[in-house]
Amino acid sequence: MKRKDFLKTGMAAGLGAIFPFSQSSVSPSPIIREARNIIFFAYDGFTWEDFSSAQHYNYRKTGKPLHLEKLFKTGSAGSMQSHSLTSMVTDSAAATSTWATGRKIVNGSLSIYPDGGELTTILELAKSKGKATGIISNTTITHATPAGWIAKQINRRDEENIAEQYANFKADVMIGGGIEAFDPELRSDGTDLYKPFLDTGYQVVKGREKFARIQSDKILATFNEGHVPYEIDRRFRGADAPTLLEMSKKGVEILDGSDNGFILHIESGRIDHANHRNDAGASLWETLAADETLCMLMEYTDHTPGTVLIVASDHGTGGASVYGVGERYRASSNIHDLLDRRTASFPWIMDQLGNSPETALILDVIEDATGVLVTLSDAELLQQAISGEINMPDAAAFPRQPIATLGWILKGGSNDDPTHLNINYGTTQHTAGAVPAAVYGNGVEVKPFGLVDNTDFFYWMTSALGINYKNPEMSAEKALQFY
Ligand code: ZN
Ligand code: MG
Ligand code: ZN
Repeated sequence: MKRKDFLKTGMAAGLGAIFPFSQSSVSPSPIIREARNIIFFAYDGFTWEDFSSAQHYNYRKTGKPLHLEKLFKTGSAGSMQSHSLTSMVTDSAAATSTWATGRKIVNGSLSIYPDGGELTTILELAKSKGKATGIISNTTITHATPAGWIAKQINRRDEENIAEQYANFKADVMIGGGIEAFDPELRSDGTDLYKPFLDTGYQVVKGREKFARIQSDKILATFNEGHVPYEIDRRFRGADAPTLLEMSKKGVEILDGSDNGFILHIESGRIDHANHRNDAGASLWETLAADETLCMLMEYTDHTPGTVLIVASDHGTGGASVYGVGERYRASSNIHDLLDRRTASFPWIMDQLGNSPETALILDVIEDATGVLVTLSDAELLQQAISGEINMPDAAAFPRQPIATLGWILKGGSNDDPTHLNINYGTTQHTAGAVPAAVYGNGVEVKPFGLVDNTDFFYWMTSALGINYKNPEMSAEKALQFY
């Protein structure tokens, strides 16, 4: 092709083609070989910027690096592109389904195409090979990220139906929030969804009491009606919740006893929730709680030959950026002292404020929970937001109100204000940028990688387990016909 022609065709393609997006490597190289156990640890809504913020905070407070930093440095690590079948910004349902099936689907669905064509997940394939299976999350256990590994559902929001699909699939280990999808008192159809598990030899636990003492090779443990409370509220406000570490340790202990190896999906699901709310304190503590869990998982892997640990974020959320402040940015790290004063999540703050707070209450509660004395005009901005009148700038990118207004008044409105965090959130939505990913193995061949696609992980896992399987593919153009 002549250079002129090349430029012409290149430009035509650039202007006209919305799809396809960049896909996975034509044939993703099998970077993992022959694993007996796979642990897939998902950080929902976690960006490299979130990593940087937590990394420096942790180092300053403890003098030690995050385990995540060690993992990125010692393991095979890189970045993952996350777009879904028809959108450059994915949601968690499409993202997790892609990990679990190797195919991109449309946002909002779980391991199913819009025409109803179901995909087969890695958990199903592993189970049919005799592996034990498990899902663990600090969101409701029926929430999108764990659900995509088992359920087939056009609409991710029908968590009661997802619980029914769990009752059919019967993973050996299910631990998370979300009593509401199983309990007959809370389910809309009054069905007791704990019963099919009890009838088939599962230990069923509601709440924390019996959890630590449980001895069983099959377990359904649900804590809290909805999501497991934020780590920041558990730690500083006495919220009743197990830690992600407690949940994960129990799951690993149980699955470790399986005859034929296991595959376990664990999710740190509330980094995403905190970032949606532009809540830097809650996000930090979720990341630190995930890191404590990661430490245990890396140690388990070190002691268990044939185990591979995959860690990845599914997409970014919130678009946080830590920006430089002060002369030559020298005051940038003051962020750590300000983050230290955060002792409650934004939802906890909003609960204290109720539906029509006086400005005096707003000032008090925010100072108590964040150490920041906001201005009267900022308190009025929040007061207006709570009453439904949104006056913060750029509100279009921050539809999650009134909580986004709280985030807005707590971030550094004026760049060198030493009382406000120098973290700016760009949005309350998901973002498109490539996110962190890593693979860590013991006695398992793990090759290095750079930029990968979220479809690749499925093929890594199937090749590790000696499974030869490809799900059917749907084009973006065809998927769009169903909207
Ligand atoms: Zn997500
Ligand atoms: Mg999630
Ligand atoms: Zn999200």
